[in-house]
Amino acid sequence: MEYQSVNPYDGKTLKKFPELTNEQLETKIATAAKAYQTWKKTSYAQRAVIVAKAAQLMHADIDKFAKLASLEMGKLINESRGEVKFSGDILAYYAKNGERFLAPEKLHPTVGTAHMESSPIGVIFCVEPWNFPYYQLARVAGPHIMAGNTILVKHAGCVPQCAIAFEQLWLDAGAPAGLYTNLLISHEQSDKVIDDPRIKGVALTGSVAAGRSIAARAGQNLKISSMELGGSDAFIVFEDADLDKTIPWALWGRMYNAGQTCCAAKRFIVVEEIYDKFLEKFKTALSSLTPGDPLDEKTTHGPLSTESALLQLLKQVDGAVAKGAKVALGGKRIHRPGSFMEATILTDVKPENPAFRDEFFGPVAMVFKVKNEDEAVALANDSDFGLGGSVFTQDLERGKRVASRVETGMMFINNIDWSDAELPFGGIKYSGYGRELGDMGIQEFVNKKLVREADVPAPVV
Ligand code: NAP
Repeated sequence: MEYQSVNPYDGKTLKKFPELTNEQLETKIATAAKAYQTWKKTSYAQRAVIVAKAAQLMHADIDKFAKLASLEMGKLINESRGEVKFSGDILAYYAKNGERFLAPEKLHPTVGTAHMESSPIGVIFCVEPWNFPYYQLARVAGPHIMAGNTILVKHAGCVPQCAIAFEQLWLDAGAPAGLYTNLLISHEQSDKVIDDPRIKGVALTGSVAAGRSIAARAGQNLKISSMELGGSDAFIVFEDADLDKTIPWALWGRMYNAGQTCCAAKRFIVVEEIYDKFLEKFKTALSSLTPGDPLDEKTTHGPLSTESALLQLLKQVDGAVAKGAKVALGGKRIHRPGSFMEATILTDVKPENPAFRDEFFGPVAMVFKVKNEDEAVALANDSDFGLGGSVFTQDLERGKRVASRVETGMMFINNIDWSDAELPFGGIKYSGYGRELGDMGIQEFVNKKLVREADVPAPVV
């Protein structure tokens, strides 16, 4: 296998990169392990200089990074720019706050004194997806490098140019060799990396299938891991929702990044009083999008990341329809060059339809009608996933009550403004475990060590 950069807007191959040989991989692991021996002893202030510099370089070159992402995986250029800016923000956030988050914490034992200290654990192996080709990398690099670890990253096969650009960013920021290393490797080599005793932790963002494989491998090796996996988030609309505000969120929540977001709104659960009105307005909004070149700022509907992603999604839609779902809008590929999928609405997806439990990773919305709040919560919770979700109502108390009742790692009331450097991100159930971002994100791969002092006689044996 090789890493291939293909523009999904026109199907043209941009570049190809060979995988590392096992010898090259060994050298990279050894370099990361050696770098750790020095990096763990550097002060937070010294680490922050490099991480802040990387942030600054990202902010200074937004267009360069953004264009690569749009070319390689089809993201609309303004969304790419937003992602690059946000990735820089995340790095800056950890440069500024990393030391504070990992400061020794005083405990209060009944006898003597005690504290917890946080120390790095070594080389962390991160496996990352293509859908946010920089943000996903910043989410692991910022915290774990500030914590004193060094990292090896296997990025997705379709975004090698973004992967290489992000590695170069660290070198440009003055990072020592081995602090941040991109690995163009196969799944088999990835398994070998996880087995390697020099690797002390494994972080994955990706599909449930990848999670099962990588978490199992990490588990066999008794290595700590964090798993940020798929989602099928509910978007609950009550009769008192302000549709003028709700519909734009529904549109953005399903269509941002061409619908290829783990915590996108995927299941629209609408109470019956407002169902017809919501469906009509949602259809109108989805129909207003214009497909085109992601590099053209006027385009509002980009291609999917790859042709195979499109074929997989079309197959899922056909499968859903074969088992009784109805197509209220779209459902087909767009007849033009490139990997474009129509904005699609499926209704009548019954629990016995396998699609009911599926994640649609693209512009396909499932819309459900429910009688009341209890039915909405029950349906939202009837999912194997538990990443995020949202609720739209003008009654804030109701919004909070429903947010508490839905079983996910994140809930949003009257918005789905998913991600912020300061806020923890992650899910439960098949959406995985562990958290990225915020204070919690930097605690995942550190040794939380208890130190207790007490001048007391030993108990008599
Ligand atoms: P994927 O196939 O699981 O790929 C993600 C990454 O894992 C890629 O780098 C891929 O490498 C690698 N990978 C997959 N199987 C592997 C294995 N057995 N061993 C080693 N590496 C392996 O995911 P995808 O379908 O492209 O990405 C979308 C999925 O990610 C969706 O389910 C989405 O919901 C989820 N996601 C979750 C979050 C979150 O924070 N929870 C964020 C974004 C995306 P190759 O490309 O080389 O196969």
